[in-house]
Order: sequence, then C-alpha cells, then structure tokens
Amino acid sequence: MEPISRREFLGQSGSCAAHLALASVAMPHALRATWARRPLGAVVAREPFGNLEKVADGVWALISTPIGGSNVTVSNGGIIAGKSGVLAIEGFNQTQGAQWLAGQARELTGRWPTHIALTHYHSDHANGLMGYLSPSDHPMIRATARTRDLVIERNKPAEAMRTAIAGAVVISPTAPSTIDLGGRTVRVVPRNGHTDSDVSLELDDPSIVFCGDLFWNAMFPNFVDATPTKLMSSVRALRRAKETLYVPGHGPLGHPTEYDRYVSMLEEVERAARKAHAAGTPAADAGAGFSLPASLGEWALFNKVFYQRAFEAWYKELKV
Ligand SMILES: [Zn+2]
Repeated sequence: MEPISRREFLGQSGSCAAHLALASVAMPHALRATWARRPLGAVVAREPFGNLEKVADGVWALISTPIGGSNVTVSNGGIIAGKSGVLAIEGFNQTQGAQWLAGQARELTGRWPTHIALTHYHSDHANGLMGYLSPSDHPMIRATARTRDLVIERNKPAEAMRTAIAGAVVISPTAPSTIDLGGRTVRVVPRNGHTDSDVSLELDDPSIVFCGDLFWNAMFPNFVDATPTKLMSSVRALRRAKETLYVPGHGPLGHPTEYDRYVSMLEEVERAARKAHAAGTPAADAGAGFSLPASLGEWALFNKVFYQRAFEAWYKELKV
C-alpha cells in the first residue's frame, strides 16, 4: 500500500490521479473488489497496482487498480507488438510503472518498447515516461504538440518532464496517422474533449481501441479539463459497429455493452446539465442534487464535487 501523500496529491490536483485518490478513500469495499477481480483477458502478470491482461495475440492491456491503494501506474495502458517493433501505450503515474511495463514487454515479446504513445497530458498518463529511457534504450515517444506542451507546462517535476518529452515525435492533430510495427499497423487518431488534445490508438483486426480517458468504465470521469460537446462527439465517433474491445483510461475492459452504458451515462449528465442551466440553478447546487438513475448500474463516485465539475464544464459551454 502506498497512500498518495498530501504533497503528491496537491502536486497533482486537477489531474485524474487526484480524482482517483479521492475516490479511493470512499469506494465501497465490494465495488473495489469487483473492479480488481474482473479481468476479461488472461492475466499474465498481477501486481498491487494492476493486472496485465492478454487481449489478443501480441496485444496486452494493463488495467490499473489504484483503488487498492497503489499509485505506481494509476491509468490503464498497454503493449502492442509487431515483428519489428513494440508500442507501449501511456507513461503512467511514476517511472516505476513505465519501467515495469517495459520489462513486461521484454519478457513477453523479447523486446523493450521501440515506440511510446501518450493519449493526453494528464500526470497519471505521462509522469512516468522517464522509466522507458535507459542508457541503451531510447524508444520513440509520440504525442501531439499540444500534449507535449501541456506536459511541459503543467506536470511536475518540470525539468524531468521536459527532458523526457523533449524529443517526442509529433502526432498530427488533424488527421489519423499510423505506427508500423511490422505486420501490424496501429492507427493513431487525434481527438479531443477530455482535454484539448487526446488520441486513441486503434487496431482493426482484431478490433481493439485504446481509448485513453475518452472512456472511463464503471467510474465517473473527470471533467476538469473537459469540453463536454467535444467529449460527446469523440465518444460517439470511437464507437464501432462491430464487436470491439475498448480499453478505457480507467476501469476494467469494456465490450459494446459497457461502452454504450458509458454513453448513456454521459447523455444523462448532459440532459441534467442543460436542464439545470436553463433553470438558472448554480452548478454547485445542480451537482449536489444530481444522481445517476439505478438503470445505469454502479458508477464509482463518492464525492459530489465530481458531479459539480461536470456541471461546471457544461455551464462553461452553455453560457452565451
Ligand atoms: Zn485524464
């Protein structure tokens, strides 16, 4: 157990890590246990901070379990291997997290990651980046220019973050690009809504989408940097017509049923926010009075301030 320190918490307030640290305090034991014990793939490694699940040949998803108290990784991520390269997704909360995932990649594929992709700048997805670098290993980091700049501007410690991400190869913010891993092509799709700049990492066969924080499964998302109308359209665009495995930024793996439940939940928040805004109800009051209908199932949320943040994000856009 490594409870998040007050200093670390303050350093990260506004990030998803702080959001999760608060939630972990109040998450009922039963839900905590369900989350940790609900792997959908074959678990190839189990650590206090998460489970590495094999989801297809050459594809593994790290499902982090920060609710258990360990903040080494906090966000989900993964590994995609081809014949000539290995992509690691996300930099995680601490260098130890990235180092661990890179070690797993070497064990599973025979290769340290050759490429790293960041889905967005939040500290729990980026702050461990240095863990991928060693005297002999310099994987190519890919991020949008906006994400790179936000990592440098907002994440701490500033100097280490600057060093880690300075050489990043910039991802197009307007058009999808690809990463060729040898016999396996990963599509990198620029999106936004959770932050100013998000990307998804996508495979067509098998159909697997690493969604970053555009998808939170069974946990109410952090709206602190969100632009809700853009979030809604990105979330709808991510949904595929065929059977697909969605790897969320937080929470367990999702199939279409879980993904659709998430969309319905966001729609419920939108309806409530528009109604409260039209009625002139302050965001704090609207958040305090809000609850999700039981038909949407269980969502980890134990501090009403998270609802308030969602209402505030909507109000910012609805303001004339
Ligand atoms: Zn995030």
